[in-house]
Amino acid sequence: MTSPASPKTYHVKSFGCQMNVYDSERMGDLLSADGLTAVDSPDAADVVVLNTCHIRERAAEKLYSDIGRLRQPRADGSRPTIVAAGCVAQAEGAEIGRRAPDVDVIVGPLAYHRLPELLKQSETGRAVDIDMPAVPKFDSLPQRRIAQASAFLTVQEGCDKFCTFCVVPYTRGPETSRPAADLIAEAQALVARGVREVTLLGQNVNAYVDSLGAGLSLSGLIRALAEIDGLERIRYTTSHPRDMHEDLIAAHVEVPKLMPYLHLPVQSGSSRILKAMNRAHTRESYLATLATLRAARPDIALSGDFIVGFPGETEADFEDTLSIVREVQYAAAYCFKYSIRPGTPAATMPDQLSEAVKDERLARLLAAVSEGSLAFNRSTVGRRCKVLLERPGRKPGQLIGKTPWLQSAVVSIPGAAIGDLVEVDIVDAHPNSVEAVPVVPSKQESAAA
Ligand code: SAM
Ligand code: SF4
Repeated sequence: MTSPASPKTYHVKSFGCQMNVYDSERMGDLLSADGLTAVDSPDAADVVVLNTCHIRERAAEKLYSDIGRLRQPRADGSRPTIVAAGCVAQAEGAEIGRRAPDVDVIVGPLAYHRLPELLKQSETGRAVDIDMPAVPKFDSLPQRRIAQASAFLTVQEGCDKFCTFCVVPYTRGPETSRPAADLIAEAQALVARGVREVTLLGQNVNAYVDSLGAGLSLSGLIRALAEIDGLERIRYTTSHPRDMHEDLIAAHVEVPKLMPYLHLPVQSGSSRILKAMNRAHTRESYLATLATLRAARPDIALSGDFIVGFPGETEADFEDTLSIVREVQYAAAYCFKYSIRPGTPAATMPDQLSEAVKDERLARLLAAVSEGSLAFNRSTVGRRCKVLLERPGRKPGQLIGKTPWLQSAVVSIPGAAIGDLVEVDIVDAHPNSVEAVPVVPSKQESAAA
């Protein structure tokens, strides 16, 4: 069975987080610049890139099951060239080579700028690059081709924090930040392509520090980006509580383009478990940060990440997690069952909890989170705000967009199009969305216009 010698089409499948989505887009840019055309289905592609994420549970199993499907011969006896990319490829490169001999390219998240070269190399045998090169990949990537109203922009990668459950410091390397001048140029190019909102990405985005130039912190970068005409909205994720400093909180007050939303994972409401997780913050210090933030920007919407069933978590510890969810009233939260990541300190901790206990706690946590989301959405009914329209809704004439608080808003506005920033009133709330109606200009306003 052969893979195509001169591939013409490609498909990139993204398994995980937003940084993974950004990387997938950039791998697509590289392959397009190399003359390949994107196709929607892996079955129609000459090259299939599986961009894995180690944070997702059973990430490796999902990869192997996709490889199993892709290696089945097609009607003409061929199979696609298979690329294993992302954090699982980084962490388990050698194992993938052993378990899945049909994989043609194995490439880590810091080396994917070499993808076209690796594909050529793979014509004579498997090509592997899981190095963490000194020359940053961003310098070798082509212009972006994105044509959407909202785009991701990776500003920082890697992590020095070493939470005991997490594999990121091992797969994405140490914290590094891209030069602010490059980011401003990339954002300007995005705006020229019609982008109106950027979400700045990093595993620890608020640890950003301009490695060259003026040594800007994240708040300085946000202020510089806010100067770009045509860029209407700025967001950032994911932040670490330890790096949530006053200057960034001040930016939420002083930079109108910075949206009133903060994703600040706490992981657990129990300071005892936070210590075992090596989180470098306590329940109290986390709540104090939120209090400062809310005093400065009362309408800020908050979201977080939670892990249930960390080794040694007692019912009392878990109750602390439930109570912090109720106290903070998150607009949204991502809840995970603890799962072992080989090579991390927590993997070998005693008192690993059973799946049954984790399942039961996850169900209770999800119920509390969904109550909080509904309460938050209800609290916004009656607010007037702008919505950036992103996609069609289910019913004819409906469009779905994002409010400043990152709620999905469903609205029908005759004549409006995706990419428009429209003024609406929020009129109803559900756990995962709000309904809005367009602001009808008053007779006086219409006359003045
Ligand atoms: N840097 C961010 C922070 O410090 O909160 C988080 C980034 S991590 C890539 C995304 C989320 O995956 C984490 O916040 C955590 O909730 C979850 N996660 C990481 N490792 C996990 C594990 N071993 N089991 C379950 N969830 C995990
Ligand atoms: Fe993982 Fe912790 Fe680093 Fe976040 S701060 S990426 S959870 S090690």
